[in-house]
Amino acid sequence: MKKSTKTILIVLLVIAGILFVGKIVFDHVIASDYMISRGIKQRNRRNDEVKENFLNKDKITVVLVGTAGPMSPDIAQNSTAVFVNGQFLLFDAGDYAQKRMEQFNLPGESLDAVFLTHFHNDHIADLGEVMQRSYMLGREKDLVVYGPTGTEDIVSSFNRIYAADSEYRTAHHGEEVMPLEYQFATAQEFDAKLEEVVVYKKDGVVVTAFKTYHPPIEPVFGYVVEYDGKKVVISGDTLVTDALSRHANNADLLVMDVMNYDLVTLMEETFREIGDDQLAQIMYDIREYHPDVADVASMAEKQNVKRMALTHYAPATPIQSMMDRFYVNPIKKVYSGELYAGSDGTIVVIPLGE
Ligand SMILES: [Zn+2]
Repeated sequence: MKKSTKTILIVLLVIAGILFVGKIVFDHVIASDYMISRGIKQRNRRNDEVKENFLNKDKITVVLVGTAGPMSPDIAQNSTAVFVNGQFLLFDAGDYAQKRMEQFNLPGESLDAVFLTHFHNDHIADLGEVMQRSYMLGREKDLVVYGPTGTEDIVSSFNRIYAADSEYRTAHHGEEVMPLEYQFATAQEFDAKLEEVVVYKKDGVVVTAFKTYHPPIEPVFGYVVEYDGKKVVISGDTLVTDALSRHANNADLLVMDVMNYDLVTLMEETFREIGDDQLAQIMYDIREYHPDVADVASMAEKQNVKRMALTHYAPATPIQSMMDRFYVNPIKKVYSGELYAGSDGTIVVIPLGE
């Protein structure tokens, strides 16, 4: 090999080596430093935008945080956020609700109150995380959890479970960052024997609890949020009842529990076929306490519900065309209002002053 060729090869090898090392340094140090810093800034900006948008007082914003019942592992369990007149109200907190709220940039530190419809695990599993994370994110006001008789027991249990964690964190980061004063939530129970009761009133926002029907579960309630002539109804888990129909009448939004009996029957038969009698029995039983799409559609149409958001699919299916077949299409055949086939993160905006 000529000396000049050899020199060129050595130079090329050195350049390749420099580029190789440079790329490693760039990828692992410079680029990742840049991406981390950029990611934090972007997230911060997004959090501020969402907070400003949702706490804006010219509209009511409802976010479906979690739309599953207990049976759909890829979807967060039931939870619905209502932003009204600068207040952040959360209805139920099933498993994965807190993670979803952070994924959706909801301002946890601004959370004002939580309302429990009933005590099935898919409605309360993440209550402890909601209480604790809002304190860790800098909530500087009391958090009250409203619910029927039995709520106090649940809230004080979560307070006990998280007591050590709060002490570690405040001791570690200081009172300024995580004031221990706000570590605990307080429960505000109402009498489960009441048919209906106003549970929350603040700056024109009124929340009323009303008894629903989810047999054999007791107590079980739905909620109505009213503000400036607008009405949002949260069904909780219930069959269609007179009380639900009455409250849903002319509602600006009904967030509605829904089931498809044909789908559940099909699942029951399949579980029997494969010898899983336990799940087959569960499929049989649950038809008695969630409403079929046909009942939901006819009630919503009859009561002139303006917008309806489906939630708590029992169960959700993994394929959109099946969701359409079992839930959306049968309801659309009967219901002429604005239908939201809810999924985690669905946002419904109700303008005020119309
Ligand atoms: Zn339930």
